[in-house]
Amino acid sequence: MTSNTIVLASNNQGKLKEFQALFSPLAIDIKPQRELGVEDADETGLSFVENAIIKARHACAITGMPAISDDSGLEVDALDGAPGIYSARFSGAEATDQKNNALLLEKLTGLEDSQRSARFHCVLVYMRHAKDPTPLICHASWEGRILHEARGEQGFGYDPLFWLEEQQCSSAELDRSLKNKISHRGQALALLMRAMEEKR
Ligand code: IMP
Repeated sequence: MTSNTIVLASNNQGKLKEFQALFSPLAIDIKPQRELGVEDADETGLSFVENAIIKARHACAITGMPAISDDSGLEVDALDGAPGIYSARFSGAEATDQKNNALLLEKLTGLEDSQRSARFHCVLVYMRHAKDPTPLICHASWEGRILHEARGEQGFGYDPLFWLEEQQCSSAELDRSLKNKISHRGQALALLMRAMEEKR
C-alpha cells in the first residue's frame, strides 16, 4: 500500500474500473473497500450527500486511509422526487433492475411525455480521514425523461427507460464511453478530479 492509495467505498466492479482508469495518470491507486476488510455501511441518510458521507467516513474509520464514495439515483418529478435515494431498492428488498423499471412504468401510467421529466444525480465525496471536517463534495445531474417502454440493451438500472433528448436515444442505447463522459457520474468525477488536484 502506498501513501497514494485511496479506498473506494463501493464494491461495484464497474465503478472501480472507471475510478482506477481516471486516477492512474495521477499515480493514485484506488482499492475497493472489500479488499481492505470493509463491509458496506448502513445508508441511513435522507439525501445523496448524507449517504455518500456516511460511506466515505465508514471506509476511512476502518482503514485509516483516505476514501472516495459515491451515491446516485433517479429523481422523477411526477413522483415527488422518488425513487431518489431508494433507487436501488425501489421495488422492495428483492429488487432487481427489471422489477424497479416495471414499477416505475406502472407508477407513470397515463402520463404524457411532458409529465415524465426526470434526472439522475451523483454525489461523490472525498474524505482525507474519518474526522475530516471539510470533505470534498461534488454533485452533478443528468436530465432526461422516462420512456413509455424500455429501449436498448446496454448499461444498468434505469438506463433503458431514460430518454436523452439531445442524443435522441435512451441511456441504454448510448455508446458506453460517451455515457461515462456526459452522465451524472462522469460529470461528478470530472468535478472531483479538479477539486482534488487543488486540495490534496
Ligand atoms: P448506487 O449509487 O450505486 O447505489 O446506485 C443507486 C441506483 O440508482 C442504482 O441501483 C440504479 O438503480 C440507479 N442508477 C444510478 N446511476 C445510474 C445510471 O447511470 N443508470 C441507470 N441507473 C442508475
